[in-house]
Amino acid sequence: MPDKSIESLDIGAHLTIAGGIPAAMKMAHEIGATNFQFFPRNPRGGARRAISQSEMADGRAARVEYGIRTVICHLPYTVNPASPDERISDFARMVVAEDVPFAAEMGADFVVLHPGAHMGDGPAAGIERVGRLFDNALAGYRGGARVLFEVMAGGGSVLGSTVSDIAGLIQAAGGHEWLGTCFDSCHLLAAGWDVTTPAGIDTMLAAFDAAVGLSRVGCMHLNDSKTHKDSHKDRHELIGRGVIGESGLLALLSNPFIRALPLCLETPVDDIRDYDSEIRQVRRIAALATV
Ligand SMILES: [Zn+2]
Ligand SMILES: [Zn+2]
Repeated sequence: MPDKSIESLDIGAHLTIAGGIPAAMKMAHEIGATNFQFFPRNPRGGARRAISQSEMADGRAARVEYGIRTVICHLPYTVNPASPDERISDFARMVVAEDVPFAAEMGADFVVLHPGAHMGDGPAAGIERVGRLFDNALAGYRGGARVLFEVMAGGGSVLGSTVSDIAGLIQAAGGHEWLGTCFDSCHLLAAGWDVTTPAGIDTMLAAFDAAVGLSRVGCMHLNDSKTHKDSHKDRHELIGRGVIGESGLLALLSNPFIRALPLCLETPVDDIRDYDSEIRQVRRIAALATV
């Protein structure tokens, strides 16, 4: 008899809306996904493709038709809201001001962004700049889509690799209920959490619960890691092929909190259609879990 909790797993992958929002919904369904993530504009930056009201309406209909449960909008990597450089921070402000409301309008559940890098003057100064930028860019925003600061691998002046950074970012940005965080299994490991054992996962979750509150965790990127715990390197690996491995993924998928999150793959496949086998792998491992 199929385990109900396996059927309810919300698993998807990073796809594209370059061919239109309805086509992305269909592609997600074809690869066996119940969620997908997309970039609203080129990951390196640039202009956002104009999306018509009719494309958004067709996208909403396709979402129902294909049973897509969660849609995640990921802001470009070039967005650095913590930067002291005015040009870089102006670009970040423009993208946040335009793409967060767009994501809410097209029905995305979450907008994920990298908190950025302070570039030398310390986390407190960087976090304060993120807060000011959010105040300015999202004044009046009502939270149609939740905005999530992604947990990062760390390294250099990158913000977001500690629970105190994440808690500070949420507070600095106004503490609104629509603010939260996005987990990433690869980044958590690289940041120093042992996400490969049940005890390690419990310790990590307890720390986030105490500092941030687990209700702030909106979704999770499910990636294996090419590099070890504490490496502070962001190197994704295919499911089961990295340091987390199948046993680590089994531990993650056996945790009731993690398992109930929308899980989205960003593993290094050659072609996005190859995510179908990655999703099958995750479902196979999830079926082994005792929850
Ligand atoms: Zn990311
Ligand atoms: Zn990453």
